[in-house]
Amino acid sequence: MIKQDNVCRKCRREGKKLFLKGEKCLSAKCAFTRRSYAPGQHGARPKKLTDYAVQLREKQKARRTYDINETQFKNYYKKAAKTKGDTGELLLSSLERRLDNVIYRLGLSDSRKQARQLVSHGHLKVNDKKVNIGSYLVKEKDKIEINKKSIALSIFKDRQAKLKDINIPSWLQLDQQKMSGLVLHLPNKEEVETDIDSALIIEFYSK
Ligand code: SF4
Repeated sequence: MIKQDNVCRKCRREGKKLFLKGEKCLSAKCAFTRRSYAPGQHGARPKKLTDYAVQLREKQKARRTYDINETQFKNYYKKAAKTKGDTGELLLSSLERRLDNVIYRLGLSDSRKQARQLVSHGHLKVNDKKVNIGSYLVKEKDKIEINKKSIALSIFKDRQAKLKDINIPSWLQLDQQKMSGLVLHLPNKEEVETDIDSALIIEFYSK
């Protein structure tokens, strides 16, 4: 019998790989690769979803991808909705600008969850100052570095060997040697590497 995994169930529930477990996600052990149907749905015909259910699923997919709770997620939406501009773009941009996401996008961690742990344990600096809050929002020209004392840790040494294979988003720059990053500019909708349909999320919250 295959062991149940609550984290992997989230991918199966959303019908896509959310890459929540680092290297396991790329291996044959990935639960979604082995069973891409929703939990408890084996053999059942997929139901036609209502518009509301489609919007709800999209919101849940985004929330689970960035691994944040409902209240936090709604706050990102509220802030985006209050700001002048494209609400969907502002929402995705603020999620991408989270420091834990940036660490993950730079390839300095193998998942957002691991990035958040590295940040909360004080291993990262932004503009030469220690930052230990994963939700910290980076700004244009911010410099992200690993603390001098932390760079010798095996977790970072192991990551360095893998950096050459990481596809860095165009709004970020990585110095592989120093394992440091630079925010070239804030991400626009096209630069956010995700298949999240922000319009569905806006519709969900606009009701
Ligand atoms: Fe689990 Fe990662 Fe596969 Fe998702 S992508 S099912 S988190 S191993």
